[in-house]
Amino acid sequence: MLATQEVNTFEDLKSSLSNMPEFDHEQVEFCHDEETGLKAIIAVHNTVLGPALGGARMWSYKTEEEAIRDVLRLSRGMTYKASISGLELGGGKAVIIGSSKRDKSEALMKCYGRFIESLKGKYITAEDVGTSEQDMIYISSETKHVTGIPESMGGSGDPSPVTAYGTYMGIKASVKEMWGNDDLSDKTIVVQGVGHVGQYLVEHLSKENAKIIVCDINEDNLKTVTDNYKNVTVVSPEEVYNVSMDIYSPCALGATVNTETLNQLKCCIIAGAANNQLEDENIHGRMVIEKGILYAPDFLINAGGLINVFSEIKGYDRKETLKLTENIYNLTLEIYEKSKKENISTHKAALELAQKRVDEAKG
Ligand code: NAD
Repeated sequence: MLATQEVNTFEDLKSSLSNMPEFDHEQVEFCHDEETGLKAIIAVHNTVLGPALGGARMWSYKTEEEAIRDVLRLSRGMTYKASISGLELGGGKAVIIGSSKRDKSEALMKCYGRFIESLKGKYITAEDVGTSEQDMIYISSETKHVTGIPESMGGSGDPSPVTAYGTYMGIKASVKEMWGNDDLSDKTIVVQGVGHVGQYLVEHLSKENAKIIVCDINEDNLKTVTDNYKNVTVVSPEEVYNVSMDIYSPCALGATVNTETLNQLKCCIIAGAANNQLEDENIHGRMVIEKGILYAPDFLINAGGLINVFSEIKGYDRKETLKLTENIYNLTLEIYEKSKKENISTHKAALELAQKRVDEAKG
């Protein structure tokens, strides 16, 4: 049976929302189902530009408070990502509390799908950490408000190649801003994390004869890139911040741009696909400027995946999707211009531009 906002701990969490004034969400739903063991939180941050879209993350949160903080922060980020990319989408996100290996089942995902259906299209779900294409297929049997289903079923398929293309555009724009032209052939680029996105990114960089240094904890992924692309060398995760490089491209984890790493990194540009790269938006957004590093806002240059999913809703073809993603190049340059003119961090410049579009749409 479906029940929202019913368990004691969730009641406590609901009241703790008032202690989080930094968040101004339209709607937060607490979903609980005893039969399947589903415990999920769906956060709709803002729907001014369109329905709230964002992935469903399944994670073994240490506390439920941690889960709610995560979903509130991530859904807010989705509003900015959609807005800056010019999409008619709002920001939302869901977290399912539990281990994706131990606790996931077809029944649980279908139950989650019924909760989404009850929101009548205000929130559209997608894949994220801990959820898969197969999960989206289960969800699609309960609601049409789901994206990321396979191309063979009318979906847009794996978003990673499009995310990588957008990140590549962001890197090229950053190089243009720093050195006056966007030629990568004499640049040394460290790609930290060669998973889904990182591998496609290496392919683009390799075609431009960039000198590529990769780092990963997964030996198979390292082998794939060294076997398939030229100019690729490997560095260990421990050494990655100390190697000589022009560009650092985080494509694995969040929060790798922090006080400790910024004191080691000797790069001119930080531009990668990972989400939430700055450990603290304010402190490290300014610190990169003090270090003379150009930082490409992550939520701008990694928006290709979202653009791809948007195409699934709009029925765009691949060509149109790539055209929209290519525009990340111009947007990145626009952000750098605003940051210089107003003497603010590039991250703040991007947030302001995203907020402006939401405010204008509100009227
Ligand atoms: P992935 O899991 O396929 O790849 C991540 C890679 O990082 C893996 O190969 C993993 O072994 C490696 N890794 C993990 N810890 C590491 C460490 N300490 N040092 C070096 N490597 C490490 O994920 P992905 O889909 O390629 O996404 C990469 C990043 O981009 C994530 O932060 C993700 O949130 C973000 N992102 C992805 C997309 C997308 O379309 N897939 C869209 C937007 C943002």
